[in-house]
Amino acid sequence: MTEHAVLIVGGGPTGLMLAGELALAGVDAAIVERRASQDLPGSRAGGLHARTIEVLDQRGIADRFLAEGQVAQVAGFARVAFDISDFPTRHPYGLGLWQNHIERILAGWVDELAVTIYREREATGFAQDDTGVDVELSDGQSLRADYLVGCDGGRSLVRKEAGIEFPGWDPTTSALIAEAEMAEEPELGIRQDAAGVHGLGRVDYEIRDGEIVYADHGPVRVMVTEQHVGSTSEPTLRDLSEALIGVYGTDYGIHSPTWISRFTDMTRQAAAYRKARVLLAGDAAHVHSPVGGQGLNTGVQDALNLGWKLAQVVKGVSPDSLLDTYHDERHPVAARVLRNTMAQVALIRPGDARLDALRDTVADLLSMDEPRKRYAAMMSGLDIHYKLGEGHPMLGRRMPDLDLVTARGPRRVFTLLHEAQPVLLNLGEPGGFDITPWADRVQLVDADFGGTWELPVLGNVAAPAAVLIRPDGYVAWVGDGTHVGLEDALTRWFGPPA
Ligand SMILES: Cc1cc2nc3c(=O)[nH]c(=O)nc-3n(C[C@H](O)[C@H](O)[C@H](O)COP(=O)(O)OP(=O)(O)OC[C@H]3O[C@@H](n4cnc5c(N)ncnc54)[C@H](O)[C@@H]3O)c2cc1C
Repeated sequence: MTEHAVLIVGGGPTGLMLAGELALAGVDAAIVERRASQDLPGSRAGGLHARTIEVLDQRGIADRFLAEGQVAQVAGFARVAFDISDFPTRHPYGLGLWQNHIERILAGWVDELAVTIYREREATGFAQDDTGVDVELSDGQSLRADYLVGCDGGRSLVRKEAGIEFPGWDPTTSALIAEAEMAEEPELGIRQDAAGVHGLGRVDYEIRDGEIVYADHGPVRVMVTEQHVGSTSEPTLRDLSEALIGVYGTDYGIHSPTWISRFTDMTRQAAAYRKARVLLAGDAAHVHSPVGGQGLNTGVQDALNLGWKLAQVVKGVSPDSLLDTYHDERHPVAARVLRNTMAQVALIRPGDARLDALRDTVADLLSMDEPRKRYAAMMSGLDIHYKLGEGHPMLGRRMPDLDLVTARGPRRVFTLLHEAQPVLLNLGEPGGFDITPWADRVQLVDADFGGTWELPVLGNVAAPAAVLIRPDGYVAWVGDGTHVGLEDALTRWFGPPA
């Protein structure tokens, strides 16, 4: 039987990111993916938020995405657009880039890292024991792995077979999205009525001065609310035509769809992200309305959180209990996404004067600077704070990409994270730390930084004398000029001393 250290079911954005993280850590990870290629039947996520761009920058691959997408202010809440260009990050913006491109670029990276992908095969079941997991594939093959991660989307077989509950809320609205030709000239742009929000736009567009400018001709991308919620069959051209007529009074002679898909505001979250040797990440762990564009971003960041922890456990560097911190840290992040999407769906529901008044009130509030900062930081993922204990405000927060001066010359903090290795960054007296027992796992970097430490929302914080940065870019320990707590933090996060 073929064995891998980690088997990932699903090679969407989450599975690809996780595979890359594991491969960087030198772990033998393989993906099982139903699709024959990375091509996506249908448009899904339309881009990346600032924190995801940062995360990709931490691995040295952000430029690949930036080169293909369109930088824009994409964060918003219930249709209130935020401008985050004043945020203290190297990437104070989002990126317009369709998911098929995001997946293609991620797959290219994973390919360079020589990850095995079993394509055109489905995982059909698994059984776990004390030492590993046996996974059955649709071609009759079986694979064994130390750990199995379900990155297999909202209908996750891994989640269901593991018996993990998926509590939440049934959908209240259903919409079709599609790409098709139209014989007549459609009304391009957003339309809102009692049924919901609808949009027609050409596939080809540019963003000029923050405005979308559509091409003159070519296929049209449709988003249209359905009259009924709860359909479970695959959507058809007839469904699309009926929905268009219901909203626009015409289907504009729609024909030749390249794809049609349905999305809803179903809102559910896995009760546990881990069951012994089985873990869940991405849509397999949480589904919600696409409003605010947070799904893919949350999945990629789940993978970032899980990857290095799983790598250390598989390598025997850290105890298996490190994996529990994955649920502890990431479950609250997605729970907050679920909550904010539900709030937004409620706020943008048309046809009720009282809701309109509430939305206007919220928009008023969000136009004030402090609420704008807080909500924009939440929607862009820049405010994530893992509860790692009391102390300096940096503890559990994202490490800013400071421009450092090191003995080897100028270095950005994110460059130090390219290999997904933790860093003890000493900004005090050079040679002030000796971490020999962790030297095989943690980089020690002496550096100078003369600037200020500024965080989104919080503003300036006291400059630490040293920080221990996890491979995911979150700060695990802050030094105040002493070494108090450092050994505990090193052991807790990177295993006992060698
Ligand atoms: C209309 C729409 C708009 C969206 N807009 C945004 C946005 O702007 N921003 C954003 O961040 N997110 C957005 N999302 C959400 C985003 O598309 C998802 O959150 C994202 O795709 C989740 O990635 P994933 O890898 O976790 O799961 P998926 O992308 O669902 O990938 C799961 C993979 O697993 C494979 N698979 C499933 N079961 C098996 C099996 N048994 N065996 C083998 N392979 C299997 C599938 O083929 C698939 O490749 C949107 C979604 C929709 C529908």
